Amino acid sequence: MSHDSSPDHDVIIIGAGVCGIYALHRLLQKELNVTVLEAGSGPGGTWYWNRYPGCRFDSESWSYGYSFSDEILQEWDWAEHFAPQPETLRYLEYVVEKLSLRSHMQFDCKVTRCVWDEESRSWRVNLEDGRSLTTRFLMTAIGLLSAPTMPVIEGVEDFEGDAWHTYYWPKTDVDFEGKRVGVIGTGATGVQVIGELADKVEELVVFQRRPNWCAPLHNSSISPEEMAAIKTRYQEIFEQCRRTPGGFIHAPLRTAVSDVSVEGRHEFWEELYNSPGFGIWLGNYRDVLMDQAANDEFTAWIADKIRDRVDDPWTAEKLIPTDHGFGARRVPMETNYYEAYNRDNVRLVCLRDTPIVRITSKGVLTTEEEHEVDILVYATGFDAVTGSFDRIEFVGTDGQSLRDRWANDPITYLGIQIHGFPNLFTLAGPTAGSVSTNFPRGIEDGVDWAADLVQHIIDHEITRVECTNEAEDEWSRHVQEAYNVLLLSKAKSWFNGYNSNLEGGGKARHLLYWGGAPRYRDRLEVVAENDYEGFVLT
Ligand code: NAP
Repeated sequence: MSHDSSPDHDVIIIGAGVCGIYALHRLLQKELNVTVLEAGSGPGGTWYWNRYPGCRFDSESWSYGYSFSDEILQEWDWAEHFAPQPETLRYLEYVVEKLSLRSHMQFDCKVTRCVWDEESRSWRVNLEDGRSLTTRFLMTAIGLLSAPTMPVIEGVEDFEGDAWHTYYWPKTDVDFEGKRVGVIGTGATGVQVIGELADKVEELVVFQRRPNWCAPLHNSSISPEEMAAIKTRYQEIFEQCRRTPGGFIHAPLRTAVSDVSVEGRHEFWEELYNSPGFGIWLGNYRDVLMDQAANDEFTAWIADKIRDRVDDPWTAEKLIPTDHGFGARRVPMETNYYEAYNRDNVRLVCLRDTPIVRITSKGVLTTEEEHEVDILVYATGFDAVTGSFDRIEFVGTDGQSLRDRWANDPITYLGIQIHGFPNLFTLAGPTAGSVSTNFPRGIEDGVDWAADLVQHIIDHEITRVECTNEAEDEWSRHVQEAYNVLLLSKAKSWFNGYNSNLEGGGKARHLLYWGGAPRYRDRLEVVAENDYEGFVLT
């Protein structure tokens, strides 16, 4: 069915998080007619939804803020080196006000269906509230981790206390005093919740299936003098981020583990363990995440740290992963996590020994006993990367559905476009190199590039943009090669599509780009220089 008249909008952006905010700003600068559709009641995306206790990012705050506006950089003061969720949400709200973006955003509106119309060369976007909009170009900024998954366990509805998935944490304060709390899940989220709640609740029961390798965050507050000094160094900080594979301030060393004496390695690892942030994961010897022997050695070293910090030897051994080496899954950064288990009110339940049988009205029944709790926290993760796309029905040329197209692997060109879905740009989509980074750093690059492409389209009176099958095939091969050099390709985690709560338990899929931000940026540049090779512009 074709649209009756010209589309309502030049561009519709779905999502008002870190990516949507910046995309809107860039497109408004080009004087386009743009609107943002957001399911939440305010901007912020990830930082709007995740309000669970202990939620904060693992990027140095001053490397996380947008870099494009010197005025914003100079005006905004970060209070902590690793800002907690309320501070980051305040920051994003401040940016939205500062750039007068709010009036271009529509909140509380859920997109349900987007259908391409070949005749009018536009997209029709349907909302849950019954409205329908049309647009020449559609951009998704719907996040990697915004489709939370509840565990597939019998009885979840039977629990009579309060229970939340961490993503849907209530906006009002939760009173934990005197409460018995159960936490299911020990990924980056669960680890933050556990560290935060251990000394605030009467009793904490941690239901752990597979442990993760965690490392200390070493967060601290930023004094006014320190903040003033940071403000003079922003250019240097962002240049440093541009040089690293992950867009963080941390980059792997050029030396390999075996290039250094045993004492030298241990000294360096000790230094990393005592330093703030992701250095221990992303700033280690170059082979730790790629070579099994190097990884085994570091893994054995850090296992002893857990044994040092956890008093009870049984608990310590249960907290040590045995199915993957350090860094092969996302490393949760922790604050007093291991020490939590030394407290009398905290208990670890090892679900591999005593699996959950069901959730009851009073708590969690394992094969060993029923754990009665007042509050149940589901820190059970996400249908990562493609889950947020699957919740919307995208219908491309010839009626094909994106959900079906991506059922086996999310095939894209540069993570930005999909053959058969013209004029749709998946900002922060699967296999986009701008995604597997310190998010705002990669996002600024990806959005800038897409905004330039839109400018090119306008300048050349182009009405249709679609990548070729061949370009997708070549990009997919490159994405797979980048996975294969890393040990993470052998571990089961959301990085490569696993989630036991999805049908079939999830399956090995190539969701992310691991070739590094600089290489991705170079590639984008070459594509643009060569008249957007791989795209058909008509
Ligand atoms: P996650 O890493 O996928 O962890 C989910 C946890 O729930 C795992 O421990 C999993 O166990 C467990 N689980 C899932 N289903 C279960 C079931 N049916 N029964 C028992 N246990 C179950 O999810 P996440 O912790 O929410 O983290 C996701 C990502 O969000 C992170 O990797 C990170 O990228 C991001 N994040 C970032 C920050 C930050 O910036 N600091 C903080 C939080 C999250 P198995 O491991 O056995 O499957």
